[in-house]
Amino acid sequence: TVRTRYAPSPTGHLHIGGARTALFSYLLAKKHGGQFIVRIEDTDTERNIEGAADKQMAMLKWLGIEWDESVDVGGPYGPYRCMERMDIYKKYVDQLLAEGKAYYSYSTPEEREKERQEQLARGETPKYSGWDRDLTPEQRAKFEAEGRVPSVRFKVPEGKTLVFDDAIRGRVVFESDDIGDFVIMRPDGRPTYNFAVVVDDALMKITHVIRGEEHLSNTPKQLLIYEALGFEVPEFAHVPLILNAEGKKMSKRDETIIQFIDQYKELGYLPEAIVNFIALLGWAPEGEEEIFSLQELTQIFSLERVSKAPAVFDTGKLKWMNGQYIKKAPLERVAALAFPYLEKAGCIESPLSPERKEWVTRVVSLYQEQLEEISQIVELSDLFFQEEMIYSDEAKEVLAGEQVPGVLQAFLKQLKEVRELDADQVKAMFKQVQKETGCKGKQLFMPIRAAVTGVVHGPDLRETIALLGAETVTARVQSLID
Ligand code: GLU
Repeated sequence: TVRTRYAPSPTGHLHIGGARTALFSYLLAKKHGGQFIVRIEDTDTERNIEGAADKQMAMLKWLGIEWDESVDVGGPYGPYRCMERMDIYKKYVDQLLAEGKAYYSYSTPEEREKERQEQLARGETPKYSGWDRDLTPEQRAKFEAEGRVPSVRFKVPEGKTLVFDDAIRGRVVFESDDIGDFVIMRPDGRPTYNFAVVVDDALMKITHVIRGEEHLSNTPKQLLIYEALGFEVPEFAHVPLILNAEGKKMSKRDETIIQFIDQYKELGYLPEAIVNFIALLGWAPEGEEEIFSLQELTQIFSLERVSKAPAVFDTGKLKWMNGQYIKKAPLERVAALAFPYLEKAGCIESPLSPERKEWVTRVVSLYQEQLEEISQIVELSDLFFQEEMIYSDEAKEVLAGEQVPGVLQAFLKQLKEVRELDADQVKAMFKQVQKETGCKGKQLFMPIRAAVTGVVHGPDLRETIALLGAETVTARVQSLID
């Protein structure tokens, strides 16, 4: 059975790249009826941020990426938080020490820096020399007496070619001679990532390790540990980098891209749209179709169709895709998502009375086709909530037209005769105004639209007028005539 995992470090918000790794891992597991695990890699304690793991997991859940085993639901191979697995790591470190495959290393940061500088001066690529591989008990005792606390280093075998077939990148080859003995356990007993990840993936029976390309160079170290511990090596799949629109590698500080899933949620993106979009960052289905639900993705996803070429993050496409999902969503859902933005902007009160809720929902319906981010509703529906009319330059120009006063007068006269407005009635009113003034088409609608909405473009005018209601419309038209 296929078992995959997403192993975030709780050092910040859920990033687009992380979400994609999680999604691919999830999809592969679900496609094969397997399990998806979320493991919290929190051994880099200096970098941990309180609450970050919970928040990241909440965002995964929001996206619909659900796990079978993790810190909250448990599972047969827990604990799923690395800092709770210290005794497990210790056991395997002790095993490597006992077998002479690892050693206590006493070098100080100063000594390591000195060694590095010397190597650089000789034109070599710096790597740990392993000078303290075979210390005698006396030498060790002397260092201990000096107060040095050792870390544990892995003894990298010499002259070994390390090969693996990456499911995305194909054959990858590294030479062990390029790798210096590396730390597997810090002086305080915490394991390093490269060690813990192997122990965890092996004991959790992970079959496919899917992660970002930036981890490619860690893989040979991990292969050495798999071998030293006699663990079965999983399949590796390193997903390509994500580039920004300028074709540059996206960094966490890149300001041309919104990078964190919470921010998209905040802006009113639908989770289905984000999932669909990030699925296409590096993976491509057969055929032209681009819109896929999570459910569909679990059926068609495959690592074979993930490209090793970098994926370009196209913000415009994400917006477009979100618009597609907003269009398809039930009005009630779109409205419910829109309410908080309108509330925050002071357009509507909370709680809404049932009548008012219905009215605001109808307002939202006018813009559903057009929204690409739900938050845009505030700006778009402005004309329904503003108390003081603001006329755009274009509207002013329209209103300066020669026949405008006549049209507005005639329209006002019609308005005075009605109480309740509906779209059909507005249509009938327009007919009357046309009859009285001889103005039709644009000459009729534009002045009315400009007068009533303050702008020259907008949703269906009849529906807009009906929704604004006789009182508001009358007041707006009246104010232009006085
Ligand atoms: N904690 C690592 C990260 O956040 C996970 C790497 C891996 O999947 O092996 O990048």
